[in-house]
Amino acid sequence: MVAQLKARGIIASPEVEKAMLKVPRHLFISEDMRPLAYRDAPLAIGEGQTISAPHMVAMMAESLALINGHKVLEIGTGSGYNAAVMAELVGSEGRIITLERHGSLAEKAKRSLHEAGYENVTVVVSDGSIGYALEAPYDRISVTCGAPRVPMPLLDQLQDGGVMVIPVGVLEHQSLLRVVKKGEEVLTEDLGSVVFVPLIGEKGHRPS
Ligand code: SAH
Repeated sequence: MVAQLKARGIIASPEVEKAMLKVPRHLFISEDMRPLAYRDAPLAIGEGQTISAPHMVAMMAESLALINGHKVLEIGTGSGYNAAVMAELVGSEGRIITLERHGSLAEKAKRSLHEAGYENVTVVVSDGSIGYALEAPYDRISVTCGAPRVPMPLLDQLQDGGVMVIPVGVLEHQSLLRVVKKGEEVLTEDLGSVVFVPLIGEKGHRPS
C-alpha cells in the first residue's frame, strides 16, 4: 500500500513514508475489519464516523510538513490513526493534542494509541471547533472533519508561521485547504476536492 502511495506521488518524503510504514493501521479498527486494514479506503469506526483513507492521511501529513518537536492540535481523533502517524513525525520531543466530540471513540482511540505505544498523544473529549486554548499556540493544526468555514479560534491558536490543513465546504464535499499564518496575513492554498464527515460544534455545522 505504501509503495503504491509513493508511486502515485502522494507520499513524497522519506519521513512520511517511514511513518506510514511504521503505524499498524489494523490496531485502529475493529477486529472484523482487520483484513481491510491495508487497503487505501476509509472504514467505519462506529458512531457513523470513519477512519480516513491512508492516501488522505499521507497527503495531510505531507502538506503539514511536520518535524521533530512540533506541537500539533488535531480536531477529530476518530480512530486515533492520523494522530499516530503525526506522532511518529513529531517524535518523542513533540506532542499531539487531539480532540474528539464522541466519548466512546475517544476511549477506543486512547486504548489503540496506548497499545501501539504512542505516549506523546493526548486525547481530549471536547468541541474542537473552538480549538483548545489551554495548550495554544500550536505549530500545526490538522482538522480531519469538514468545516463550513475556517473557525476563527483555530486561526487564533495557530503559531505565527504555523500551518493548518482543513477541509472547508458544504456537508457533501469540501476543499482541502492549507492555511499559513504569517503575522496579520493568512495565505490559503486549495489542495483539491475531498469528502470528510462534518465538523459539528459551535463554530462548525449544527447537529442534524
Ligand atoms: N482522524 C481520524 C478521522 C476521524 S473522522 C482518524 O484518523 O481516524 C472525524 C472525526 O471528527 C469523527 O470521529 C467525529 O466524531 C469528529 N468530530 C466532528 N466534529 C467534531 C468536533 N467539533 N470536535 C471534535 N471532534 C469532532
